[in-house]
Amino acid sequence: MALNKKTIKVCGLIYTVLVTEYFKAGDDDRNLWGYCDHESQTIYIRESLSEQKKRQVLIHELTHAVLHEAGYPEQDEDMVNRFSIILHQVLQDNQGLMT
Ligand SMILES: [Zn+2]
Repeated sequence: MALNKKTIKVCGLIYTVLVTEYFKAGDDDRNLWGYCDHESQTIYIRESLSEQKKRQVLIHELTHAVLHEAGYPEQDEDMVNRFSIILHQVLQDNQGLMT
């Protein structure tokens, strides 16, 4: 799952991945590393992060997108954090798994 991929299909919906330093994360004014906007189907990743951290944040935001499209609009941030860190590690340790 290369970060240079600009779109990701989630349950048939196309999410756009934007790597940018500045983005508005809904009502959250914190300087977040990433944000998943379900309405516009956009995943924002902070540009100044390392390439490894960008990939980890992408999997985190993708987890939000998958859960949202699976019908979970309210998500436990701690659960998403723990799950996505492990999923990122599994994907990293098994490159080419889906090819
Ligand atoms: Zn999150």
